[in-house]
Amino acid sequence: MHVEVRGLNKHFGNFHAVKDVSFEITKGHLIGLLGPSGGGKTSILRMLAGLETPDAGEIVFHGQVVNNLPPQERGIGFVFQNYALFKHMTVFDNIAFGLKVKKANKSFIRDRVMELVELTGLKGFEKRYPQQLSGGQRQRVAFARALAPEPQLLLLDEPFAAIDAKIRQELRSWLRELIERVGITSIFVTHDQDEAIEVADEIMIINQGRLEQKGTPWDIYKEPKTTFVATFIGESTLIENAAELKGFKPAEGSQPTKALIRPEYIEVGDREEFSVASATEKGIVKHLQFRGSEWLVEVEVNGHKLVTYRSLEKETLQVGQEIAVLVHRAYLFNDERSWIQENS
Ligand code: ATP
Repeated sequence: MHVEVRGLNKHFGNFHAVKDVSFEITKGHLIGLLGPSGGGKTSILRMLAGLETPDAGEIVFHGQVVNNLPPQERGIGFVFQNYALFKHMTVFDNIAFGLKVKKANKSFIRDRVMELVELTGLKGFEKRYPQQLSGGQRQRVAFARALAPEPQLLLLDEPFAAIDAKIRQELRSWLRELIERVGITSIFVTHDQDEAIEVADEIMIINQGRLEQKGTPWDIYKEPKTTFVATFIGESTLIENAAELKGFKPAEGSQPTKALIRPEYIEVGDREEFSVASATEKGIVKHLQFRGSEWLVEVEVNGHKLVTYRSLEKETLQVGQEIAVLVHRAYLFNDERSWIQENS
C-alpha cells in the first residue's frame, strides 16, 4: 500500500512530540524509523495505526485520508517488542485470532494458518503454547499473527529489542526475506542503526520530533544533510576547527567550520608511504584493538583522536609509534550549510 503523511503534529500536554512530519512510502518498501529514545518514532507509528490521534496533518493510505478510520479498518498489522501473544492460546490459535475475529470460515482459517506456519518456519510448533517457545520463535508467531488477515501495511515497533544479539541478527535477515516474499509495505521502529542499515530499503531519521532525513542507508551515510544525521549514522570523529587539518579549507567569513571524519576517510602508514606528503599529518598510535576481521586503529593527530580500521598483522603497528596520517576527505559544516571536501 502506498502511504503518505502530510504535516503530522502531535502534542502531549505542552510537549510537542511530533513536529510537522511529512513523507511518502513506496508500496512494498521496508522503512526503518531510526532515532534516539524519546524522538517520536513510536508516536508516529501509533498515529499511522490509529491508536493515537494527530493534532494536525493527514494520513493517506492508497490515496484515501484515513484519519477518522479506527485501527481495525485501516488494513494494518502490528508487531510489538514484547510479543504480546495470548498466553492461554496455542501457536495455531494465536495466528488464527485475527481471522476468527473477521469470522472467516474454518477451512480457510486452517489453510491460511498452515501457510503462515510454513512461511515463518514454525512447522511442527502449532500446538505449543507461547511459554514453550524461545524468544525468537515467539516473535515469529507474532509476525504470523499480524500477517494472517492479509494487512496492506505492517507496523513493527522494535520487534527484536527483547531478543538476544545472536538471534536478533538471524531474525533481521529472516525479516528481510519475509517482507520480500510477502511484498508488504512495512515500517519498523528501531534505535539500532545497524539494524536499520541492514534491513531497510529506506531510513527515516527522527530526532526531537522532526524528520531529519529520509533516504537509502547508503545515501544517508554518504550525504548526511544535518550534523545530527552525520553523527548518528556511522562512526566519526568531530573536529571543532577544520583549519586544524591539513588540506581542508574552512568556509569564507567568520563562522567556525567543523569537520567530521569517517574511519574510511583516513589512511595510516609509514611517513614515506604517501605521495601527497604535504597533506600528511603526523600522528601517534594510541590504541589497537582486534575486531574479528580487522584492527581498530586509534591515532592522535594535533590532539584529536581519529579512528580507522585496517586489516593488518598486529606486529606492523605498535601503540606509541609515530605514523603518517592522511585524511582523504571530510564532511565540513557550519551553522549555515554542510558540504563534503576532498583533501586538496
Ligand atoms: P523510544 O525509542 O524510547 O520508544 P520514541 O522515539 O519512540 O522513543 P515516543 O515514544 O514517540 O518516542 O515518545 C516521544 C515523546 O513523547 C517522549 O518524550 C515521550 O515521553 C512522549 N510521550 C509519548 N507518549 C506519551 C503520552 N501518551 N503521554 C505523554 N507523553 C508521551
